[in-house]
Amino acid sequence: MPAHAQRRARIGVMGGTFDPIHNGHLVAASEVQQQFDLDEVIFVPTGRPWMKPEVTASEHRYLMTVIATAANPRFTVSRVDIERGGPTYTVDTLRDIRRERPDADLFFITGADAVAQILDWKDVDEVWSLAHFIAVSRPGHALTISGLPEQGVSSLEVPALAISSTDCRSRVSRGFPVWYLVPDGVVQYIAKHHLYRSIE
Ligand code: ATP
Repeated sequence: MPAHAQRRARIGVMGGTFDPIHNGHLVAASEVQQQFDLDEVIFVPTGRPWMKPEVTASEHRYLMTVIATAANPRFTVSRVDIERGGPTYTVDTLRDIRRERPDADLFFITGADAVAQILDWKDVDEVWSLAHFIAVSRPGHALTISGLPEQGVSSLEVPALAISSTDCRSRVSRGFPVWYLVPDGVVQYIAKHHLYRSIE
């Protein structure tokens, strides 16, 4: 390729509730960024997820995601799902990011647990046309992409961190530490705003 010819930008999109964001999310995104030679990974905190009605206020989840990603020059955070309002569907997330980045190739990053449900997603045929999917391994979940379009999905083994947001919330509510499970700034944000003191 001639030196002046620009290759298309390669952008990862990592959607999540991020309630709170934890090191499992960050390690997975970092590994995909490096292995797939992505220029950027955009973290997209959900508005109100259709499958998780009771979640922490969007602004808290957004700010914890900003804090957690701030030091990595390839990580950014988008508010598209928060600002759209209503339940979040991946097809809407990808449409909005595509509109903002018309010339980029998009790679949607999703864990082994979520990828198993893709065929149930809203407008799944359009979803495939908007992004290539990268399914990452997650402890406790089999990583299988059989039954999904071969051209549309890749899988990647990432360092195994058995961390979930559910467990982080539960630990905080019981007075257990979440140091080293979530970034330091997120530990401090949770304490400052008294998040997860009591959970449903
Ligand atoms: P919760 O426990 O509240 O369901 P979660 O820990 O699964 O939350 P989400 O914000 O729902 O976190 O996850 C966003 C994305 O990150 C999903 O695609 C999920 O599969 C993936 N993911 C979450 N935790 C890990 C992990 N430890 N390793 C790899 N992928 C993960």
